[in-house]
Formats: sequence, structure tokens, C-alpha cells
Amino acid sequence: MNKLVVVESPAKAKTIQKYLGAGYEVKSSKGHIVDLPKSQLGIDVEHNYTPTYEVTKKQVLAELKKALKDKDGLVLAVDPDREGEAIGWHIARQLGYLDKDGQKVKKGKDLQRIVFTEITKQAIQAAVEKPRELDFNLIDAQQARRVLDRLVGYKLSPLLWKKIQYGLSAGRVQSVALKLVVDREREREAFKPEEYWSVVAYLSEQKHGKPKIGINLKPGKDETVEKPEIPTTLPAFKLVKYKGKKAELANQVQIDKIAKDLAGEHSWQVSDTTTKTQEKHPRSPFTTSLLQQAASGRLGFGATRTMKVAQQLYEAGHITYMRTDSLHMSDQAVKAIEAHVKKKYGAEYLPAKARQYANKSKVTQEAHEAIRPTQVDKDAKALGLEAEQAALYDLIRTRAVASLMASAKISVNKVSVDVNNTYVFQANGQNIIFPGYLRVYNERLLETDLPPYKQGQELFPTQIDLDQHFTEPPARYSEAALVKKLEELGIGRPSTYAPTIQTIISRKYVVKENKYLIPTDIGKVVTDLLSKYFADIVDAGFTAVMENQLDQVANGEVAWEKIIDDFYKPFEKKVIEKDKAIDRAEFTVLGKSTEKCPECGKPMIIKLGRFGKFLSCSDFPTCKGMLGLDAAGNVQAKLDEKPTEEFLAKYLPAPKTEDGRSYLLKRGRFGEFWAHPDYPKVKDAKPIELRPEIVEQLYGKAPTGEKGAVYTLRSGKFGLFWAHPDYPKVKKVIKAKLIEEQ
Ligand SMILES: [Zn+2]
Repeated sequence: MNKLVVVESPAKAKTIQKYLGAGYEVKSSKGHIVDLPKSQLGIDVEHNYTPTYEVTKKQVLAELKKALKDKDGLVLAVDPDREGEAIGWHIARQLGYLDKDGQKVKKGKDLQRIVFTEITKQAIQAAVEKPRELDFNLIDAQQARRVLDRLVGYKLSPLLWKKIQYGLSAGRVQSVALKLVVDREREREAFKPEEYWSVVAYLSEQKHGKPKIGINLKPGKDETVEKPEIPTTLPAFKLVKYKGKKAELANQVQIDKIAKDLAGEHSWQVSDTTTKTQEKHPRSPFTTSLLQQAASGRLGFGATRTMKVAQQLYEAGHITYMRTDSLHMSDQAVKAIEAHVKKKYGAEYLPAKARQYANKSKVTQEAHEAIRPTQVDKDAKALGLEAEQAALYDLIRTRAVASLMASAKISVNKVSVDVNNTYVFQANGQNIIFPGYLRVYNERLLETDLPPYKQGQELFPTQIDLDQHFTEPPARYSEAALVKKLEELGIGRPSTYAPTIQTIISRKYVVKENKYLIPTDIGKVVTDLLSKYFADIVDAGFTAVMENQLDQVANGEVAWEKIIDDFYKPFEKKVIEKDKAIDRAEFTVLGKSTEKCPECGKPMIIKLGRFGKFLSCSDFPTCKGMLGLDAAGNVQAKLDEKPTEEFLAKYLPAPKTEDGRSYLLKRGRFGEFWAHPDYPKVKDAKPIELRPEIVEQLYGKAPTGEKGAVYTLRSGKFGLFWAHPDYPKVKKVIKAKLIEEQ
């Protein structure tokens, strides 16, 4: 027996080779080896949405073919989810294992799919003994997602280029995520802070003279206010009731009255003491989204970084598969963790009845496990991990161990103090009686001791602080909070959370500031356009329904082509309609500027041009006054609507010299051209050519002349024009017009 085993990554290949030994050669495909074409839709919408895949890794494929030559079978050991299944399917097809429909294994060919959620000797050997066939439900679900996303992206993005700015993109899940961020920003902008006050008394058991009274206004942004030092040795009692009602104090007039009153002679008497024992239960082990949230909160990792490090840990065999929505742990893993807890902490650290965490996944073929260590006895140090991996590994390990441990027992004390039958102050204390899982997994829990007060005991105020506060607007989303929200809304999969956020950041729709996501002007404009004209696409409910349908495909309940068809037919119609209906002017005004028009002196407004922001006279089109803005938003002397470097890199890549240097964009008498980096010393210039597929989407098909001569788009003194292929020898040109202007 001699078989070729294919996995996605070189690191995983190395680990698996170690466990399989002789008779197997493990090779990596380095991810997908095929993809939809970049320059065209690649989906035959007339014929059942058949996708056309192009081989993107020719060399890898050649190596796999070569390795397969002397083998008598192919084993697909790709990751245990939809994407892994699809990668395996593409590999099998390219290696000639499947018939032309890609649905059946050719006779006489030995093709196996093996599945494991941890890369350990035991798990790999067990998987090899129980191979299965490729699961076409999972493959279909993955393919449906890819096709759906491609259709939405390719149909909507050009519309955004025409109506807003070149180079923008819309996407199915990404546009919903962006809308969440934009909506939150608008909530914050519309938020009106409300004033409220807190009253805190520090009470002593010893007799005391007049209390110090502090009325503390909230300091302004750049102010610091001297406050009396808080007497840390005395418990803080908070005013909870005033005149028989919940203490809700909203203005300073009221506060001044209370301050004056409390400064006087009163009897402060303990009116109630209660002590309760509360249990604090551990939380479940990690799913992908829970891991991303905890790693953000505790380690300050962004979602993408968390997934990168988790993948390294998985491929090295230290943790189970990191893309999962399951809370379940295998019986074996549960037993190992219980034994570990018993040995290290004692039997009392295990609950009387073992904890069970329900599996949330709706797709049975994806019955994964939660993310847990593969060898619970080994901490990061024992595994010799470097800092970043060690931090994430320990987080995963402690959380998995804690999830099966006994609850913590906490004694909670509450003491109420009555003043004059008018005020009720309350202090809370808590103490850990039994730490349980808290010994392993820390949670923020402040232990505060209260003295053993007696009912009716008299106490004496030493200091009373009255503090002004204002309600805060809802917080911006952090990456972790956005992942949590997306999961709550049922949008996306464990494999898509991190890439979705990465996309809206790299598209510059949002910027990350101190780990919070803030939408940019473009992000807001794109969301406004989509919300108004493609409400479905940015609607969380609609998107969740689509995700549900993808789950149904994965379960074999619906054919993938049907859900695409149900979506695409009305969507396509809408794109065509809206393309005509949307007025570009509606979405290009960003706001008012303080600048005055250089031509007529009227106020200017901030507008979005095709290549970026600029200022336009508010009297446009009567007055054509304009001012340019640079990337930082500063006014430039003269409008020079030039493509940004970013735009050029993407849509108009500069030609390169033989030694790899880029040509520079220069403006000459006859318009813009590419100049050799050593120009004018080296007299080499090239005309500007936009990529054909972009040209067609913006300017329509190139006109043809006599004998089928195809005109090309060129940039001239007066803008873009179609030039005869033999221009400038043959002086035939046609003015180029954007499709929307035609
Ligand atoms: Zn003007």
C-alpha cells in the first residue's frame, strides 16, 4: 500500500506525516487550488449557475500529479468543514478522480476522505480506519456561498463605482456588518447625554464630627478637578432610596438640598443585613466566536490574529479544530479533563454531576467539538510555545478545564442604613467561600469585606461624595463585539467572522481606533445607498434566512441551485432597475465646509468625487468653483482630480521596467501618460490603458471602426476618449462617455 495524502497547509502536512509513517506521502495543496476567474463573473446564470473554475496553483497541482504517479490511492485529509470538503473535491477533480459532473468517483480509483478534529496520533489513526466518501451536501453548501457572494459582489460593485467612487465593493455579509457599524455611529451622533447624580457615604463605627461634603461636577474634557481622597478603609454606602422611591437624582438644585440636609445631625442606623450564598458557574468551552471575544478582551488580539495563532496551534497538534460552533467535547476529552482536575486540585473541584454543553450546530455532518487542548496535562510551558501561541493556548486550555469544574461559592452581604426615614444607603460585600473553577480561569470578581454589622447599630458619616455623571452613548463595536453581534443575528459561519471584519477594514469602510470600529465617510455613503435601494442586502434578518438556507443545503434538504435562483432572479432585475433610478448626486454630498468658494465666495460643500473627496461651490452648477482635498482632508490650492495611488495600484497598475521599477503617471500636453522612472533622461512613455473589464463596466463596449478595428480608451487633455488603434497616425477619436451619461 502506498497512498498520497493531501492536506491544506505545509505545517499540517508535517505533523500528519509524523503520525502516518511509511505507506503514506503527505502533501499540501496550500489552500484552494482553483477559484472563480478574477476578470469575469465566472458563473453561467443561464445554465443552473454552473461555475467555471480556473486553476490558480498550477505548480502545486503539477507536484500533486507527480506525487500521485507511483501511488495506488488518494486520501483527502482536508479540514473538517465545508470549505475543507470543497478544497478536497476540487483536488480530486483536478487529479482525475471524479467523473465529468464531479459527482462520482471513477471506477477502479481508490479515493478516501478522512475526517478528524485534532491532529494527534490516536485521532489520525482512528480516521484512517474509518474513511468516508466526499460529502456533496457540504460541498454544495460551500459552492452556494461562493456563488452567492460572487453574484452579489460582481453585480453590485460596478453600480457603486458608477454612483459613488471607483474601486468600491459591496458584498453579502460584509455589507450587513458595515451597516451595523454605521448604525451604531449614527446612534452615537444622535445621542443626548442625560445628567444624573450619585451620592456615596463612607460610614465609620466610631463617633465622628461633621462629615466632609464634596459636591463634584463632572470635569470637562481637558479639566481635572481636585476631589477629596476616598477613605479606602471605610465601606462605601450608596444612596439607593430617597423619600421612599428609587434614588434618581437629576439636577444640582436637588443635590444642593440633599447635601445641606445630610451635613446636619441625623441618626444613621443599620436597618437591614442579609447574607446569601451564591453559586457562580463556569462558562462553556470556546467556540470560534467565543474564542475571538475572549482573546480580544484578555489578550487584546484582533479576530484575524486570533485565528492565525489558533491555526498554528491546531496544525501543530495542540488544540482541536479552531473553526467550530460546537460546545460539545468528546467523552475521551471530558474524562481526561476530569482526571486532570482530580489529580491537580482534588475531587471536590469536580461538580457532583458532570456538566454538559449542548451542541448548537444545525448541521449534523459538522458535529465538531469545542476548541480544547489535545493534551490537557500540558501547559504552554511544557509544550515550549512562544509568547503569542502560549498566551492563546493557555486561554483555551484553562477555559476548557474550567468549563467542567465545580461552581464557585460566593457569600454576598448586603447592609442597609436608614437616615431619618428619608434616605436608604446600601453597601455590598462579597467573599469567595470556595473558588471552584475560579482557581483555573480568573473572572473579574472584586472581594470586598464588610464588617459584621448588627441590626439597629448606629454608624457615623465621615465623608459624603455627591458626583455628577452623564449617560454615555452606546459604545462603538470592537471586533469582538461585532463578531458576537453577527453570531447573535445568525449571520456568517465560524470561518467567516474574521475575514468579514478584515474586509470592511481593508476596504477602508471602517477604521480601527483603540480597538473600536469607526465608519469612514465612504462607509456611510455606501451603506446609505444600499439601505435605500437594496434594503434586503443589508438587512440582517434577510441575510440570516440565507444563512439558514445554506445550512439546509449542508443538510441535504434543498438543492443549492434553487436557493441561488430564488435569490438571483429578483436581485438581477432590481440591479438593472436601480442602476437607472439612482442619481449619483444623491450620495455624493458629505457635508458642509467652512471654506469659501474661490470663484464667488459662497460657502462650499464637501463632495465625494470619483477619486476622493473635494470641495464644491454650494451654487453648483451655476458656479463651478472647486477646491481639492488631500488624503488628510486638507484643502489644496487647486482641484486636481487625480486617481489615488491606491486606485492606480488596483485598477490601473503601472507598467514596470525590466528591473521592476514602476512607471510614473505624468501629465503632458496631450494628457496623462506613463513615464519611465528616469524620464526625461530615458525617453520612454506608454499610453494609459484601463483594464478592459473595468472599461467595459464603466464606458461600455469599445466602439469598432471599419474592418473591425477596435478602438482603445485613452487619456487626453480633455479627458478620456476612444482612439483608433493606429492613433495618432490615424486621427480618428470618439468621445468616451460613462454608461450612465450615454
Ligand atoms: Zn462659487
